[in-house]
Amino acid sequence: MKIETAALHAGYTPKSGEPRQIPIIQSTTFPYATSEEMGKLFDLEASGYFYTRLQNPTNDYVAAKIAAMEGGAAGMLTSSGQAANFYAVFNIATCGDHVISSSSIYGGTFNLFAVTMKKMGIDFTFVSPDCTEEELNAAFKPNTKAVFGETIANPALTVLNIPLFAKCAHAHGVPLIIDNTFPTPVNCRPIEWGADIVTHSTTKYIDGHAATVGGAIVDAGKFDWMAHKDKFPGLTTPDESYHGVVYAEKFGKEGAFITKCTAQLMRDFGSIQSPHNAYILNLGLESLAVRMPRYVENAQKVAEFLEANEMVTWVNYPGLPSNKYYELAKELMPNGTCGVISFGVKGGRKAAETFMKNLKLGSIETHVADAVTCVLHPASSTHRQMNDEELEAAGVGSDLIRLSVGLENVDDIIADLAQALDAAK
Ligand SMILES: *Cc1c(COP(=O)(O)O)cnc(C)c1O
Repeated sequence: MKIETAALHAGYTPKSGEPRQIPIIQSTTFPYATSEEMGKLFDLEASGYFYTRLQNPTNDYVAAKIAAMEGGAAGMLTSSGQAANFYAVFNIATCGDHVISSSSIYGGTFNLFAVTMKKMGIDFTFVSPDCTEEELNAAFKPNTKAVFGETIANPALTVLNIPLFAKCAHAHGVPLIIDNTFPTPVNCRPIEWGADIVTHSTTKYIDGHAATVGGAIVDAGKFDWMAHKDKFPGLTTPDESYHGVVYAEKFGKEGAFITKCTAQLMRDFGSIQSPHNAYILNLGLESLAVRMPRYVENAQKVAEFLEANEMVTWVNYPGLPSNKYYELAKELMPNGTCGVISFGVKGGRKAAETFMKNLKLGSIETHVADAVTCVLHPASSTHRQMNDEELEAAGVGSDLIRLSVGLENVDDIIADLAQALDAAK
């Protein structure tokens, strides 16, 4: 199936007379005729549902669809993108281990790694997304268990050289985990470029309607855990908490990662997505392949407008030929990147604040990747506790506007930006 078709048909195939739309199985539990039958499920001897914290059919339909769209072997949903990234890393790295991450990642993920997971005994080395092969290779340690990065980073909009990061990860016998939230599988399929595990904050474009917080994890099913048996004991030695199952033996390359992540991490941490949210998520997913090209088309026109506007000092959008990542983005994402742009307003903080005050259409939100255009001035909102020097050091200057271009008629978006920029003169 091509991506447009998979967005509609993958993961759930109704039989004669069954509902066209995926059913919402809003049930915590699933009864069985005998306890022997149920026992087989607990032993992972038979597959089936028994408790929604572990698995639910509605969630599984949607996870299977996202996995198909990413070209992966298996997938699962989580309650948020934060949970997806935590699970994806913690499924293979534990206390005493080391992980390499791009330094250009979502702020929430950076805190998760640098603060919370560090407290759990996992050590992170942050490397520039623009590092050379030598610099990346130098970051590996004997206890390195994974490499992590974002295809297009939120909010810096750096583009990761996925083939290079995959090459170095594989040369050191560890998988590459890619957060593919911004391009979505419609614009980039990291597995095709060498990634082993793909994560999403489905809260963004996949839902696309600012309706549900959610996450997803997809495993390519290509990483050979058994070939690196000593590195990944969680997958290659008996799980005493699950009747001694050896995930990589019993479920193979295709099933080991997601089965362990479900049977162990979801069981113990419980960040399950509600079936109702999964249903809403799927409604957004059905039109994702139609929406993404429109985001790209609108954002490209808006970025070109901004670049030509005298009140704009700089524009960061990988679709602009002036952008540092233009060529790499074209290679990895020939159909375009995403709808998020950042730019600087001439006159700094004061002018940026006036610009924000004068917006009539653009909605002031911390959210991005919504159907509607949303705009944020970090210096006066999310980052307001920082002074100008601290903002500069964090790469979020006081003049910076983050603009998530929506699906409105692009002329209306541009007209709104034009009048707000005029007012800031
Ligand atoms: C928003 C976001 C997250 C966190 O996702 P939530 O659904 O908000 O928990 C992770 N990664 C990226 C790239 C994001 O944009």
